[in-house]
Amino acid sequence: MHATLPLLAATDFPAIRRKALATLQVNVGYRCNQQCVHCHVNAGPNRKEEMAAETADQVLRFIETARIQTLDITGGAPELNPHFRRLVIGARALGMQVIDRCNLTITEQPGQEDLVDFLATQRVTVVASLPCYLQENVDRQRGKHVFEASIRALRKLNATGFGHAETGLELNLVYNPLGPSLPPAQEGLEAAYKRELGSRYGIVFNRLYTLANMPIQRFGSTLISTGQLEPYMKLLKSAHRDENLDSVMCRTLLSVDWQGYVYDCDFNQMLGLPLRLNGFKRRHLADLMGLDVEGLAIEVADHCYGCTAGQGSSCGGALSA
Ligand code: SF4
Ligand code: SF4
Repeated sequence: MHATLPLLAATDFPAIRRKALATLQVNVGYRCNQQCVHCHVNAGPNRKEEMAAETADQVLRFIETARIQTLDITGGAPELNPHFRRLVIGARALGMQVIDRCNLTITEQPGQEDLVDFLATQRVTVVASLPCYLQENVDRQRGKHVFEASIRALRKLNATGFGHAETGLELNLVYNPLGPSLPPAQEGLEAAYKRELGSRYGIVFNRLYTLANMPIQRFGSTLISTGQLEPYMKLLKSAHRDENLDSVMCRTLLSVDWQGYVYDCDFNQMLGLPLRLNGFKRRHLADLMGLDVEGLAIEVADHCYGCTAGQGSSCGGALSA
């Protein structure tokens, strides 16, 4: 795989600083039952990296003291980590919102038969990737038969109450383009998803988030191999909007890797660009206990244009309506 950071590090992306911390996003490991083409984590079934019990304990201690609102758990397929449920239960007991970045097909893996019920009991917010409402496009990006399995999982989530406004059990979907193009406007696409998934499969959900593909890891490497990195970067930069800078996720989120090291966001984590604090190369979550990160400079590089292009996208989707 081609390294992308050397091609992104020299940047004219504007300097930005942290606001008050609201979300801890924890990557509990790179193991996944899927191996998607666009995956910015390079996750797959053979990855061995996995958050250990001691690091999960540190996460729980940090959220107890940091007074933040949200624990956002990602991977790989985060549910495959043996401490996933302990993290969920611990954060919910503190009254925090918990987000599970769920790939849907995980619900059909051995040992996950009760996952949907667990997520409902804990009132976890499910955020699930579904890059299209058409089978061919989903299978092309995420693998053969992924679409059918995703539809079965969505039906199960709906049957348990997720995605219905009256239950308060949130089910949000994530769209990203199939290739090096910008996502269409979030509002219009959300309406199309609701119409098509509703009429074809009887599926309901709360929100659709549109995200641009990040020119890093597997997707970035493919861009380099096919000579498309430069035009894609030009596209992202030409669509940059300064007003999106205020709400990119790194302003209010800290990203933690499976070993407990800390980054400004998940993308920086994948690029190996750690949070900069008092000149140290890498900071561990344990070093941040009781520290205020507000005002710290954020590590930026050219991939950041993926967050501010067009309507803007971050882990939470379009930034401006
Ligand atoms: S499901 Fe998510 S984590 Fe797994 S390979 Fe696909 S994009 Fe990566
Ligand atoms: S990639 Fe996006 S979220 Fe990460 S540091 Fe850059 S602007 Fe912030």
